[in-house]
Formats: sequence, C-alpha cells, structure tokens
Amino acid sequence: MGIITKCVQCEHCDEKYRLRFNIGNKYPQSATFPCHTCGEDLTFGMDEDESIFKNIKEVAFRMDLKIVNLHPELTLDAALKDDPLYFPSIDFMVRQQEQGEDGIFGFRSAQQSCILYQQKWDAIQTDFRYLREKRWKLLEDKYGTDQKETEHKILLAVFDAADHFLQGKWAEFSDNMLDIAGEAYNHLGYAGLRNYLLDFKEDFLMNKLYEVMKSYREVEDALLPTLLHQKCGFVPEGHSSAVNWEKLKMVYGDFFEIYGDLLLIPTSLNNLLTRNDFNKFNTDGFNLNKYIDADKSGKAENFKTNGNLVGLADFYDSGIRNGTHHQASTFDKDTQTITFRTGKGGRGRKDMSLVNYIEHCNELFARILAVLKSYYLINMMKPANPV
Ligand SMILES: [Zn+2]
Repeated sequence: MGIITKCVQCEHCDEKYRLRFNIGNKYPQSATFPCHTCGEDLTFGMDEDESIFKNIKEVAFRMDLKIVNLHPELTLDAALKDDPLYFPSIDFMVRQQEQGEDGIFGFRSAQQSCILYQQKWDAIQTDFRYLREKRWKLLEDKYGTDQKETEHKILLAVFDAADHFLQGKWAEFSDNMLDIAGEAYNHLGYAGLRNYLLDFKEDFLMNKLYEVMKSYREVEDALLPTLLHQKCGFVPEGHSSAVNWEKLKMVYGDFFEIYGDLLLIPTSLNNLLTRNDFNKFNTDGFNLNKYIDADKSGKAENFKTNGNLVGLADFYDSGIRNGTHHQASTFDKDTQTITFRTGKGGRGRKDMSLVNYIEHCNELFARILAVLKSYYLINMMKPANPV
C-alpha cells in the first residue's frame, strides 16, 4: 500500500509533474491523467520489474513540481488530487472503520477477491472458449472424453471465478438469487419452468456468459477503481486514475443488452412463485413470448415487488444505454463528466460522472453473474417430480 514518487515530464509540452503513485496489488498496473497544459493522456505504471511511461519521461526529482496523485485501484477525491499529503488507501480504511468494519481486513479481502477473480478467469477462459466452440478434442487430455462431465467441470470453474467477483455486498445479493431458485425447486411447477428455461442454455451459458466475462476482462483496468468501494459497500465518488472513455463507452450498453435478455430468468421465476405459472403475468393476455419481444427498458418491472429480486432492477437504466450507445456522448477529461442526450429525439441532456458510470458497469456485471449462477443451478437441479 505504499506510495512511490516519480518526477516526469510531458513529452508533448514539457510540463513537469511530481507523481505520487499508490502501488496496487497486481501487475501490470497503471494510471492515466490528462496533461494540465496540453491535454495529452499521460500514463505512469509498474510492471513486475520496470516502470511504464507513456507520453512522459522521467526527470530529476524536484520538490516544487505540480503534484498529481494517482491510484490504480481506488477513486480519488477530486479536491485532493494535487494534495501532497493525500493517502487514499488510508482514507478508505478510515471510512470503513467509521462504519464499524475492520478496515484493513475488509480492504485486503476485497483486493484479494479482485486478484483471484482475474487469475481464475484467466486460467479457465481458453477452456471455456473451446467448450463453447465444441472443440472437444482439445479438451480431452485435461477433462476426458465424457462431454457432459467436461462441460460441468469447466462451468464449475467459471462460476468459481464468478464467486470471487461476487464478494462483499454482492455475495448476499447472489445468495438471494439462489434462494429464489431453491424456492422454485420446491414448487410443483418447477419441472415446467426448468424445461422452458433449458431452451436458452446455449445462448445464456455458452454465448452470453462467455462474451460478458471476456468483455469485462478486456476493460478490467478501467473498471477497477470503483470495485473496492462497491464491494465494501460505499458509493464510489471522485475521480478515476484509469481513464479510458474510448474503451468504456460501449461497455454499459453491451452489458445492458445482455442483462435485459437474462431478466427472463428472474421474471419467469417470479411468475411461478407469485402466480403459480411461470408464463402468467399480472396483466391478462401478457406472456413470456410477449415479454421477450417487449422493449428492454421495462424488463425489470415484473419482479419489483419481490423483496429478494427487487435489487436486480437497480442500475438497469435504458437512458444510460441509449445515451452512450449511439455515438452521442461526449467526455470531459478534466472534470471526468460524461454528457449524453436523453429522451425522444435526444432533446434532453444528462451529465454523469465517469465514476458513477463505471459503478453502473460493475453493478450490472455483478447482476449478470448472479443471475447466470442461479440459472446454472436450475440446470443442474433435476426436478424431483418430472412432468
Ligand atoms: Zn503536456
């Protein structure tokens, strides 16, 4: 949790800075900030045994240079971003202690879960890709020739990785989802529901789960700075030191589309548990086929009165999806503000902080994993009384 100091010079305009870089837990790690003078993105980071410089070069130490605080794993208080005595990790732990949490323990276990998630995903993602492409020959050495067994082992490893993501506040939330699946299992209509949902297995478990986890890994560095706050139950605020709007701007919309399709799972579960028929909605004449065809913006409405499921509707916002997905958004690097058009014809305008946007991406990703985990459980739980 140390801080290292580097004095650097912008290669474009020669502006000099004294960087206070908070060392994170994994390598490589880096942080980016716009040059105060010329606006160029300047990156400093660390690999296992060397420093990373992009658009900057190291210069001799001088105390009087402009200070820039950087942290690859936490958001920074915008008002303190040039404060020479700002220690973001310590501030974070103090906040946790104020909430009665064991600061260091919570911080460490959240950090650890981020690293383990990444390692476990990296270890299984190639096998998962082979499974998805049905390249059984390539999997035989490791898993044997039983295809069902191979699929089971790989998906278990994938969900083991997912469990590390679903740490902290998301663990509770994911458990709620499993409880609902368990309740459904004890319902007489379970076999029918399961048969219905099994039709989506290829699309949900092979396509969507793989795609979303692969996409997440590709932008993970830029999504990391709010993650510890979220896992420890804080609303992230301030600025990110891993700004990459070009890489991030489609992420929310992509996750939104996938999640919108997956909401069929809690919706059909809720129908079964509240109306004894997975195909029966509150509105007469409405059914799952109509639900699937309906506009994505309303897909989380059905289960909002179910206390165990209502949290799934949080952070699901078609306004952000529409505003960022149609090349209509702009990003201000200095204030880290995203501006996008809203409403019919884009007459309205909405500002959103980058950190709030990143928080939304992580929240949707956690919900996708939680919903798919319960879906996999339903796949595995054969009904006691088959239809
Ligand atoms: Zn510059």
